[in-house]
Amino acid sequence: MKFKHLNNVNKIVEINGVEFGKGFQVIAGPCSVESQEQMDAIGKALKKLNIKLVRGGAFKPRTTPDAFQGLKEKGIELLLKTKKEYGLAVVSELTSEQHVDLFDDVDVIQIGARNMQNYELLKRVGKLGKPVILKRSPSASITEWIHAAEYIISEGNKNVILCERGIKSFEFSTRYTLDLSSIPVVKSLVDIPIIVDPSHAAGNRDYVIALSKAAKAVGADGLLVEVHPNPDEALSDAKQQITIPMLEELIKELERIKL
Ligand code: PEP
Ligand code: MN
Repeated sequence: MKFKHLNNVNKIVEINGVEFGKGFQVIAGPCSVESQEQMDAIGKALKKLNIKLVRGGAFKPRTTPDAFQGLKEKGIELLLKTKKEYGLAVVSELTSEQHVDLFDDVDVIQIGARNMQNYELLKRVGKLGKPVILKRSPSASITEWIHAAEYIISEGNKNVILCERGIKSFEFSTRYTLDLSSIPVVKSLVDIPIIVDPSHAAGNRDYVIALSKAAKAVGADGLLVEVHPNPDEALSDAKQQITIPMLEELIKELERIKL
């Protein structure tokens, strides 16, 4: 195998009773954690839909320093309250080694697109005993992305899930171009779960359901999707977050795609 560190990696990553690498799993939640009220609405919606993992950013890597940077410690606190109250596993992005201790009770570490090649951060999360979702950088080849996963795995962490979130192209009708080809390509190269983030790829909630169905049809292991009780008022990524009724529709639509 070209990627020797992936030889003894976990093919199935189990989180909160959900198996990534088997079936089609859904992680949903807001771009940023904003308030208790927001997280309660999300927690209730996920419980109703039997979704067991919630996402939410507390430390936000934004394109400009003037944009909302996340609630930071308070955001993690709200996420952990949601975890307890609704029995959810929580996924949140770690942007710096300095914050690792704050993430002790966060179940899944997300490494964002911007940090895919932050090798010191990758090695640090490689030493943690919890699953890592590794987003693809919008300018990384599939090979570079898998090598980035190797940085985590080579430090001893066998629970890595790749997440395709779109790449840069000449096409600007969507925020990025969702490279659905990467799913079968990755699967032909390595035995490691791979999920799709249709939200950041599309940048527009109107395309999220269609792209999610495509992700399932093409053989992805699941979704990481942004949902907000009132997306137009969201403090980050307002255009791309789906509403709670849209999440309900999305789950119904996914059931129509049989594996
Ligand atoms: C996110 O998931 O909130 C995020 C910032 O995504 P990405 O790193 O893919 O841009
Ligand atoms: Mn976002």
